[in-house]
Amino acid sequence: MSAIWHPFTQHGLHEPIPQVERAEGAALYTRDGRRVIDAVSSWWVTTHGHNHPRIVAAIRDQAERLDQVIFAGWTHQPAEDVAAGLRALLPAELTRVFFSDSGSTSVEVALKMALGFHAHTGTGRSRILVMEHSYHGDTIGTMSVGARGVFNAPYDPLLFDVGTIPFPTGPHPTNDGEATLAALDAACRETRPAALIVEPLVLGAGGMLFYTADVLRAMAAICRAHGVLFIADEVMTGWGRTGTLLACDQAGVVPDILCLAKGLTGGSMPLAVTMATEPIYAAHCSTDRAKTFFHSSSFTANPIACAAAAANIAIWQDEPVRERIAALATRQAAMVERLAALPGVANPRTCGTIAAIDVIAPDGGYLSTLGPRLLALFREADVLLRPLGNTVYVLPPYCLDEADHARVEAAITTALAAVTR
Ligand SMILES: *Cc1c(COP(=O)(O)O)cnc(C)c1O
Repeated sequence: MSAIWHPFTQHGLHEPIPQVERAEGAALYTRDGRRVIDAVSSWWVTTHGHNHPRIVAAIRDQAERLDQVIFAGWTHQPAEDVAAGLRALLPAELTRVFFSDSGSTSVEVALKMALGFHAHTGTGRSRILVMEHSYHGDTIGTMSVGARGVFNAPYDPLLFDVGTIPFPTGPHPTNDGEATLAALDAACRETRPAALIVEPLVLGAGGMLFYTADVLRAMAAICRAHGVLFIADEVMTGWGRTGTLLACDQAGVVPDILCLAKGLTGGSMPLAVTMATEPIYAAHCSTDRAKTFFHSSSFTANPIACAAAAANIAIWQDEPVRERIAALATRQAAMVERLAALPGVANPRTCGTIAAIDVIAPDGGYLSTLGPRLLALFREADVLLRPLGNTVYVLPPYCLDEADHARVEAAITTALAAVTR
């Protein structure tokens, strides 16, 4: 019996825990000899595919040169390469790059930067606005700015108060988000918030909920008009997931603070960055030591992880990544169109490389029995899919080929027939 306590795993249900020995492209190979298609990109991190040769080589080379060094007051070439690469790839307004090691910490850093900006410029603002159904991580701060529910009920006494604006409901893509924008405008006027944090275009853990670029653009404009910092959590949506490098690109929005993690290293190593505009950096830059940005973790900008990120950025710069994404997006849309015609399917939707459907079940919600039943059926089909309640989504590595894509679709079709019979 293993001593391991797994994340988001109810050990009391004794579900099988397969052991993975190696991976390549979109496939995982298990100890018991199965080839499993990774249709969720190993929880949304793997972009180009597992074990991309250039990323593997970069990790190997860097491990032989420099494994780890303190980053407070010191630097190294892989971190400089990542910072320069991000500056070349991303909007020019995002002038500063702060490293950390997970999506959650990148969001914690973003919140601290926003509060630091307002503290050091003397605005007296500290309240955070969030969007209904959002997810930003599992630490206390990120749970505070995320949706409250079964995931965090026991910790609620520790979570800080935030202002919540409603998710733009109504038929996508025609919904103009009127209620959302009115609530944001009112909150900005009445509560003098420090910042709004959003997942641009797609709320991932909230159930693959989509809203339009028009709403995103309007939210950013309202924030700007009221001196409220706009924080884009692109931890999941970044690196091509929604069809463009950043989801914000589709709205022509440049956030004041940007969080990137998951696909930053192509999904190979834990690394994150929080990027900021010059005014946010300038508010902390002083001869006064009290204005220092007091945040660090032991492995900030780990050189091996940075080498993997630099290789990922190089892949974006000189491989046809955008073409691969466009081709995958086209196939995802075609798949969803076919699935939409099946009985029991509601809300078929795609956004770039993300495809999702809802399965109509009498007992909806995350803890419904439908999810586990689907999970078991997908497992039998050797396809790694992890429904969010009654939402089945496919979020694959960009290298997923047509044959494997067809197997994913077949697994969903078969499972739907079994659960809606
Ligand atoms: C996954 C995710 C996070 C948290 O990232 P971790 O690396 O798991 O800490 C934060 N925000 C969004 C939008 C995410 O999808």
